[in-house]
Amino acid sequence: MTDTVPFIDLRSQQSEIFDEVAPLVAEILRRGDFIGGRAVATFEEEFAAFCSVSHCIGVGNGTDALELALRALDLTGQEVLVPANSFIASAGAIVRAGAAVRFADIDDDSLLLDGASLERSLGPDTAAVMAVHLYGQPAPIEELQLVCGRAGVLLLEDAAQSQGASRHGRQAGSLSLIAGTSFYPGKNLGAAGDGGAVLTSDDELASRVRRIANHGSARKYVHEEVGFNSRLDTIQAVVLRAKLARLEAWNEARRAAARRYDELLAGVDGVRLPVTLPGNIPNWHIYAIRVAERDRILAGLNDAGIGAALHYPTPIHLTGAFAHLGLRLGDFPVAERAATELLSLPMSPHLTPDQQHRVVEALTGLV
Ligand SMILES: *Cc1c(COP(=O)(O)O)cnc(C)c1O
Repeated sequence: MTDTVPFIDLRSQQSEIFDEVAPLVAEILRRGDFIGGRAVATFEEEFAAFCSVSHCIGVGNGTDALELALRALDLTGQEVLVPANSFIASAGAIVRAGAAVRFADIDDDSLLLDGASLERSLGPDTAAVMAVHLYGQPAPIEELQLVCGRAGVLLLEDAAQSQGASRHGRQAGSLSLIAGTSFYPGKNLGAAGDGGAVLTSDDELASRVRRIANHGSARKYVHEEVGFNSRLDTIQAVVLRAKLARLEAWNEARRAAARRYDELLAGVDGVRLPVTLPGNIPNWHIYAIRVAERDRILAGLNDAGIGAALHYPTPIHLTGAFAHLGLRLGDFPVAERAATELLSLPMSPHLTPDQQHRVVEALTGLV
């Protein structure tokens, strides 16, 4: 037990693609087409096809992608609902788009916003709902759509963690009007730096996103509005093309690892396993169990060289960034309790069965 088990093994990913990508990056350095190079449009077409949407617009990062989606939907000045248990960027993008955040609690088993929790949380002024496919498990979108449809509320997706996940055979990112995704290096489809994309099959929304992301300009030096600058770099597009070609195999490897954890942990008292909703094929961006005395167990695992981690220790409404909303402990009890129990185990396509046995052995000695 000398080797450590990293939370995510990015080095193995890079070495798989290195020989293919290095000469292409060298070529870009020689040519100098750093912005808007051919690889960007090609990647956008390939990823749109992968997600079964008509348009993929490459942007600077996932937070920008969500902000652009919200701005394209004209939600500035309106209220947008988001689950309290996400990465802060889900709510941050709403603020950045000039909209008001309304938080919601979640289903205790799936940890996702579901129809019942949405029904309880919608307000009279809610104009849109951002479903988050947390940990790479699609939210029950048809339930959410039903509630949103009845209330005349728009629905969009935060698909930052769900590249290649599907629900009833439909790809995450294609389940609503518009979605934002992230190519942060640790995501299932990660760049060699920051990147993101907006996904939609609506032609008008797609051209609005492109315009806002490019200084409010559809034609050079014609500016119809004040936009900002958020683009996917050519070098990142080259890296992403190489990784996209491997994404399904990598996600399959994660699924096999998730099944192995499920089996190894099935008889372990005090460990609550992740629940997959019927109809979902997750991409297992994160494999999170729930335990009592989580902080002691996390410290014990880290001491044993196991890269366990937290996603996320503080529900968004209790962060300092949202203190001005005056929300308190007790407002979203399911999300709050989950945040004290959740523990993310090492997960990546290159995680070996031997490493998983070591994780489980260390964990079993601690619970
Ligand atoms: C990573 C992530 C984002 C933000 O993406 P960045 O590329 O880091 O800006 C948004 N939402 C969720 C759920 C994420 O995991």
